[in-house]
Amino acid sequence: MEPIKQRYSHQRETILQVVQSTLVHPNADWVYKETRKIIPNISLGTVYRNLNQLVESGRILKLKDEAMVRYDGNTGQHDHFRCSKCGKWYDVELIDQSIFKSFAEKHDFRIESFNLELEGTCKNCLDS
Ligand SMILES: [Zn+2]
Ligand SMILES: [Zn+2]
Repeated sequence: MEPIKQRYSHQRETILQVVQSTLVHPNADWVYKETRKIIPNISLGTVYRNLNQLVESGRILKLKDEAMVRYDGNTGQHDHFRCSKCGKWYDVELIDQSIFKSFAEKHDFRIESFNLELEGTCKNCLDS
């Protein structure tokens, strides 16, 4: 039998890979379903606990909207577009950051990070 500690970290790495393997910004249920394909006997509680630990150690991001908590395997600087119809989150890169520069200069602030969340209707929903 594997030592317990090793089993835990194996579960955590698997969950991390599941979150990193997708762009859908999944909720815990989705992660649970996908992780069970790899570790069939894992419990939802274990998935939650490991997700929280991954968030605490900064390896994934936790996002919240009114409906649910979502997880993001992309921890690099990026912003989000949220579709109000289907509820999907999309990663977007803000191309023009000069607006922040002029804002900082105008107010004598120094911006260290920013988090932009755009909301609207995505292409899929507009087309259907
Ligand atoms: Zn949509
Ligand atoms: Zn994202």
